[in-house]
Amino acid sequence: MDKKSLNEGLLDYLQRSPTPFHAVDNISRTLEERGFTPLVEADDWKPGPGRYYVVRNGSSIIAFVLGGDHIADGIRMVGAHTDSPCLKVKPRPEQLNHGYVQLGVEVYGGVLLNPWYDRDLSLAGRVTCQTADGDIHNLSVNFERAIATIPSLAIHLDREANDQRSINAQKDIPPVIMQADKEQSLDELLMEQVRSEHPALNVKQILDHELSFFDSNPPACTGFNKEFIAGARLDNLLSCYVGMRALLEADSGVSSLLVCNDHEEVGSASAAGAQGPFLRSVLERIFSGTGEYYRGVANSLLISSDNAHGIHPNYADRHDANHGPLLNKGPVIKVNANQRYASNSETSGYFKSLCDRHKVPWQTFVNRTDMACGSTIGPLTATEIGVRTLDVGVPTFAMHSIRELAGADDAHHLYRALSGFFQEKGRPGAV
Ligand code: ZN
Repeated sequence: MDKKSLNEGLLDYLQRSPTPFHAVDNISRTLEERGFTPLVEADDWKPGPGRYYVVRNGSSIIAFVLGGDHIADGIRMVGAHTDSPCLKVKPRPEQLNHGYVQLGVEVYGGVLLNPWYDRDLSLAGRVTCQTADGDIHNLSVNFERAIATIPSLAIHLDREANDQRSINAQKDIPPVIMQADKEQSLDELLMEQVRSEHPALNVKQILDHELSFFDSNPPACTGFNKEFIAGARLDNLLSCYVGMRALLEADSGVSSLLVCNDHEEVGSASAAGAQGPFLRSVLERIFSGTGEYYRGVANSLLISSDNAHGIHPNYADRHDANHGPLLNKGPVIKVNANQRYASNSETSGYFKSLCDRHKVPWQTFVNRTDMACGSTIGPLTATEIGVRTLDVGVPTFAMHSIRELAGADDAHHLYRALSGFFQEKGRPGAV
């Protein structure tokens, strides 16, 4: 797949995936169109050679191709996460203040809050509903259009704003959704939206919801020479999308797997998160018995892909002088002596040789020694499964902002590396 088609597909995927539920739905649909068989965890299955996918909680997905000898050669795995920091609607969110209806929100993950002001916000997520026949359904909703905003306080009312404005997450950020003289029930608005998106179901009651706000402004190619991609949720839907595209082209004689977990931004400790048992349970069904499982896992290798921090020209001192990744210069191998990243010399050495074989540039990142390091699904999955792992990711600016920035060449660099990974035969790594 060429760079232009990949980037167009990525922008479209970002726009159609405002929440992890949508992100997983969209991947599932594409996989199914391309011949992957859906498996349900509650069913009895033992997959033979072929292409499959499994979804948990509607927000995490594992897709895999079985071919070749997945015990002796292991399974080539790529990991990513489906969630992004955002503002989540509270269970009883409605507030009426001075004739404005606002919705109370929780902060999900490490949100950079300032950029959420003065945006054309929309709302999406999952709604759990009861139908007329008493059945309970999880249904996705997406208002798509701009229905809310968090207006800034004018500088005339806060002269210190540029020097010292801080944000109180309880008081300062409930988005305004309408002007009204009486309270407005969110469930009423949701019912209308659910019925318009799911007309075949006779929905009688909204039981609960998991909704989050997002910026309705679509992602775009920017920069004078179109060298950047700007958009929400590049962390980490870029890796999910690129991983999926690479898996679609995986060699059918090689065993390969893509795992995209929810809840990375809040620590991954959940049934669907990387610290939960989802991947292990699927691997246990792929391998027959304990002996095969341990041999297969020992021969496997996981490339955990999650975005990295590109060196910012205005804040270059926030990076170690020798480790400032540049946008458009290839995937970044992330290293941390304290195991906040899972890369080691064997796995990163393997990745460098993989990139060299496929003519993909690569870079390395390590934090300033006097700054705390972030983490990702790599170390957690390695801890849970015991698989050889490395952490990589494309360099970006503005991580966890409502609009992040990546290099227009880097999704394609990562795609070529992961495609190569899924197409080469034999046990990856050192002999
Ligand atoms: Zn991430």
